[in-house]
Amino acid sequence: MPRPSKRSRWLARLHAKIADIRRDFLHQLSTRLIHENQVIAVESLSVSNMRENRCLSKSIGDAGWAEFVRQLEYKARWAGRKLVRVDRWYPSSKRCHACGYVSPKLPLSVRRWTCSACCTDHDRDINAAHNLLAAGLAVLAHGETVRPECMSVDAQWLGSVKWESLSL
Ligand SMILES: [Zn+2]
Repeated sequence: MPRPSKRSRWLARLHAKIADIRRDFLHQLSTRLIHENQVIAVESLSVSNMRENRCLSKSIGDAGWAEFVRQLEYKARWAGRKLVRVDRWYPSSKRCHACGYVSPKLPLSVRRWTCSACCTDHDRDINAAHNLLAAGLAVLAHGETVRPECMSVDAQWLGSVKWESLSL
């Protein structure tokens, strides 16, 4: 077998270094979220399905979502926190957390939007986080069949993570 070239060894070291930095980042973030929150809501995503979507696959792969959720799971178990998975079909991004209106379309490139029903201006990720928290609380309180429209959120004790905001 031919010896790897100097350039390919350099490239392999660079990839390893980037992987280390990402792993370290995800560990720090998951530890912080578990430490600061009693309940954490995450979208229950089918990563393998989304990898088939070329637009989404890069950010999902890069962020290591599955690994991140795995870390949250075992750290939540250790620390006695609750990790709630919210159905991946729940429209957390398109739903206005202020009035419940669901926007018919919201392409991934749109990072800010204004609700056409109540005129609230939304940051896409923050709005989605509010909705995930409310949905996560509903799941905790009543089981997954209950719709979370009526839940109020005490953001002080809760965290939520939307995978789109985790692209590194
Ligand atoms: Zn609204």
